[in-house]
Formats: sequence, C-alpha cells, structure tokens
Amino acid sequence: MKITIWGTRGSIPAPSPENNDFGGNTSCVEVRQGDTMVILDAGSGIRRLGDAFPSGISRIDILLTHLHLDHIMGLGFFMPLYNPNMQVNIWGPTSTRESLLTRLQRYLSPPLFPIRLQDLPCQPNIIEINQSNFEIGPLHITSSYVCHPGPTVGYRIESGNTVLAYIPDHEPALGSSHFPQEKDWTSGYELAHGADLLLHDAQYTPDEYQPRVGWGHSSMGDALKFATIAGVKKLLLFHHDPSHTDQRLRELLQNAMGDETFPFEVGIAAEGDVFDLPDPETA
Ligand SMILES: [Zn+2]
Ligand SMILES: [Zn+2]
Repeated sequence: MKITIWGTRGSIPAPSPENNDFGGNTSCVEVRQGDTMVILDAGSGIRRLGDAFPSGISRIDILLTHLHLDHIMGLGFFMPLYNPNMQVNIWGPTSTRESLLTRLQRYLSPPLFPIRLQDLPCQPNIIEINQSNFEIGPLHITSSYVCHPGPTVGYRIESGNTVLAYIPDHEPALGSSHFPQEKDWTSGYELAHGADLLLHDAQYTPDEYQPRVGWGHSSMGDALKFATIAGVKKLLLFHHDPSHTDQRLRELLQNAMGDETFPFEVGIAAEGDVFDLPDPETA
C-alpha cells in the first residue's frame, strides 16, 4: 500500500512561506495498491493530485470523512472529474436529515460553484456509508462514526495484514472523563487498533483546546494518548491548525512529547510525504 499526502492542513488552506515544510493545503491523502486508487477526503490538496494524475487509472474512489468545507472544497477543482471516461465513486456518511447527494449539491451548484455536481462529465456515483465494510479492488475498508460535529466517519483500510487508519477530525476526549482508560469505549478505537500507520487529528495545543472543547478536534497530547491505547506502529499528526507554522508545529510536538517515550514512531504529516507500507504476507 502506497500512501501519498496531498494536504495536511485543518479548517482552511494556509499557504505561506512559514508553512512550506508541512504544507498549506487541506486534507487529502492518496492510497494506491496496484491500479486501485482511493482518495481520502477532497480538501484543497486534491487539485495537485489531479494535475499529477497517473495514466492507466480508470476508476477513482473518493472517501469523504464528512462534509465540512475543508474536506470537500477541492472536488470541483479535481480535473479527473471532468473526464467522461473516468468512473468515479464518491463515498460519504449518511445523515438523518438529507442525502449525501443533496449535501454535496449544496456546495457544487451556483452560486457557490458554477458547475452542478450532476453536470460533471464523469457522472459520479454517490454512495452513503455509516458503520460499513466494503471492498475496493484489493483493499478492505471499514468506516465508522467518530466523535466530531455532524455525521463524520473515520476509515480503516486493510491490504493483507497492512493497516492504514485515517481519522483527520476527531475529539475522542469529548464527554469521556475516562479517556484514555477504556479503549473499547473510545471513539475511533476499532478503526485504529494495531494500525501500521495512523493519521490523526492533532490541531490544538492544550491551551487552545480548553476553550474549544466540543469543536471536534484533539490536542497533540490527546492524539498521542489515542495512538498509545490503539497500539499503532506509527502516528502522523494531521489536520494542522492554520495558525501553526512549521517552526511552531515542531515546538508543539516537542512540548507534547516531553521526556516521555512512546512505543511507536511519531511524525508531523507533511504535504508530499510518501509512505510505502509493505504487506508482511508478500514482503
Ligand atoms: Zn477538518
Ligand atoms: Zn470537520
């Protein structure tokens, strides 16, 4: 499984010279296994993926975690959607109020966008999921609701024994005085347990988190706690606050880790990062 990161930022794109190392584009991660391409979220980072789109791919599956603008804002700027020969499936969470199609059309229609979703040349299929299990090519995918305002899922993607977990917007500490003690009752645990690589929300410092409890995001410290109980092999901190520069992010990680040692690798997700997760069955 090859993972390429096209956008790491949370909330709103934050391009600036101070953010060049970790990037200014919002959430987008490409997962490849042979000719199978799965795209996690369609933040502003998806535009560059479209520009660098590999030949030989005729089907794309875009898995949306939720409909907050930072996760869908790139959709209309992703050029493969304008290819009538491309088969495109857009997956996203069920809502009790409106269909996924209706919610996506709100953004992809005038006056917010000149082209309607239903007029895109690729004629995308819109597929609703919740607590779901499904296959895309050789990838086995599990989705599950996680703690974040509005219907929001995280994803667990498995290829053989290799596991990627993607939970970019997540506040597992919300409403749980026991976090992180009771792993079976912790939001997102079943998605992340034993993952080779976990991409997880780490938007805030502890001071920033306090007045923002309930906004749906984690402090770096809570991301480290979550990764610890989930027993992951590597944690990549994701969904960087737009105000956190490269230098600030490095300082924040040092502060969050302190003198503690963790039984897994920790990194700050950067636009352009590529990870090859070998399948132990075939390695
Ligand atoms: Zn977000
Ligand atoms: Zn969100």
